[in-house]
Amino acid sequence: MAVVATHLHFDHVAAVADLVDSTGAPFYAHPADWAVYKTLNAIAEEWGFRIPDIPTPRPLGERLWIFDVWHTLGHTPGSVSLVVDGSVFTRDTPFYR
Ligand SMILES: [Zn+2]
Repeated sequence: MAVVATHLHFDHVAAVADLVDSTGAPFYAHPADWAVYKTLNAIAEEWGFRIPDIPTPRPLGERLWIFDVWHTLGHTPGSVSLVVDGSVFTRDTPFYR
């Protein structure tokens, strides 16, 4: 089991701390989103939200268990899509910038 962020916008990772705490699963994100990670709380506050501190992600490589990890940057520098058995899980990748 793992928690994988397709990108590090606050609305996609606000519950990661609870999820990691309750499951013990490691948390992964693409290293190209480290700069986004550093601004999570500031951006959330700009939008009127307070979010808990997010665990430091482990660097996501090109493969995680059964998934190929495609670096589909554009929405954020570290956006990824997960591919398995002919299916692609994109999350916000279609929303360029
Ligand atoms: Zn997003």
